[in-house]
Amino acid sequence: MSSVAPVQPTESCPGCGAVLAVLSDAGPARPGASASCTRLFEDTLRGLREEIAADPSAAATVRLADDAYAAQHPEPGDPTALRAAVDRIPVALGERPVPPDAARPARWRTTIADVAADLDVIDLPALVGSWARSVHEDWTATAVDRS
Ligand SMILES: [Zn+2]
Repeated sequence: MSSVAPVQPTESCPGCGAVLAVLSDAGPARPGASASCTRLFEDTLRGLREEIAADPSAAATVRLADDAYAAQHPEPGDPTALRAAVDRIPVALGERPVPPDAARPARWRTTIADVAADLDVIDLPALVGSWARSVHEDWTATAVDRS
């Protein structure tokens, strides 16, 4: 067995910045996201989406995950959808609203790649909660502090 791993080509997501291996079968990318990031998000949430019919709490977690993802991956030309997602997150978390002058953060502390990486040790609803909280804090931090 060789100890030298083949170098896998990677791509950086235009939305969240996650650097992920390029997948040959990734399928279409969501607008504002790389194909590999889109696929990772879909794969990570698939099981929970399938539970929605039987488990109302799964629906809330999926909604929060969709908003956290949308807040990091704005569709070009659709600022209204972006702002709606940014505004729903603090409501779901019981946090203060993101100030209106907040701009899209240049960097993110947590992405779907972090969520997927911790799935073995932490359950998905808890990971989605801390991911959404981090997205909310990153957004809030860009606003001008008037206090
Ligand atoms: Zn991404």
